[in-house]
Amino acid sequence: MVAPFRVVNIDCNFDYAYERDRLAPLGIELVLRKSVTEDEIIAACADVDAVFLEGTKTPMTARVIEALPARCRLIAKYAVGVDNVDVAAATRAGIVVANAADFCTEEVSDHAVALIVGAARQVVSMDRHVHAGRWTGFVGTRPLRRLSELTLGFVGLGRIARATVRKMSGFRMRLIAADPYLPGPSPEPGVDLVSLEQLLAEADLVSVHVPLSPQTRGLINEAAFRRMKPTSLLVNTSRGPIVDEAALVRALREKWIAGAALDVVEVEPLPADSPLREFDQVILTPHRGADSVDSLAHVRRTMVESVFAVAQGHWPPFPFNPKVAPRVPLRPWTEALRA
Ligand code: NAD
Repeated sequence: MVAPFRVVNIDCNFDYAYERDRLAPLGIELVLRKSVTEDEIIAACADVDAVFLEGTKTPMTARVIEALPARCRLIAKYAVGVDNVDVAAATRAGIVVANAADFCTEEVSDHAVALIVGAARQVVSMDRHVHAGRWTGFVGTRPLRRLSELTLGFVGLGRIARATVRKMSGFRMRLIAADPYLPGPSPEPGVDLVSLEQLLAEADLVSVHVPLSPQTRGLINEAAFRRMKPTSLLVNTSRGPIVDEAALVRALREKWIAGAALDVVEVEPLPADSPLREFDQVILTPHRGADSVDSLAHVRRTMVESVFAVAQGHWPPFPFNPKVAPRVPLRPWTEALRA
């Protein structure tokens, strides 16, 4: 008898009826585990064909990946960022890594727009002022500026940044972007490609949209803050460690920049005594930029599609290491495999 194709979710945290209902009729067994440490993950994955993971901190390290059984063909993450998966180790092992690259492009770009406009208009400070029982006398942390007079700079011009560009274009700001991996002319009409140095020097709002990698960790560091205008604002909806937080705190205290709006921070949850909580000119949201009922349904559908595709001998819809030599040869992804 052929063993069923087995997928384990190693760090599950909700109910998986949707996944089960779709995978079971296809002969795919879903096992639920709540593993935290490397050893717990290794034990959970002892006998599986595919692994699902969700958390941004779940340690899918080289040690874990090297311990996966020979039959394991896929690691699929319920997310865009796969920075906690050692993709190089998976590639060496012939295991496909897949994400859900497009599941929250709309939500995160909406959130980026909210933080950009909210920070520029000082909406949160005004709200605190009124909630504190006041009305007149709002001073704010700096003079308000007309958005159409300002320059908005995108660090990274991928899916989320481009969706943000399209939504922000109605504000008639000057739009610039730094993305060294984009060849030739800008792919987005109305956005000029510039160097990171030029962007930092010229942007009134700097919005960060790069993946976390060894190259981008600490990309927005002390030198970057010193290049920025004293009136400028930093917005980060990508990953916390891309910004050197100690340098950010210093930049805010010493007024090298005027403020920040962050959906992501270096250590999550943000420690209760984080100095970031002290600043009135800092807007903080608890890494919920991707959230909506619709994005959750979308990511779950993509995970089902990914595991079904690989079980049927196809590539998943969003392979993150497309150059991997898979353990079992795969045919191209096809829309016929849609859940
Ligand atoms: P994407 O892969 O489509 O775009 C990333 C872009 O960054 C690419 O164009 C790439 O060329 C560019 N890039 C890489 N290194 C760079 C560098 N050193 N300098 C400038 N550009 C660089 O990804 P996306 O869908 O736009 O998502 C971006 C990031 O947003 C994800 O990697 C993820 O970490 C984060 N994210 C956050 C949330 C949230 O809840 N806040 C949700 C989803 C994604």
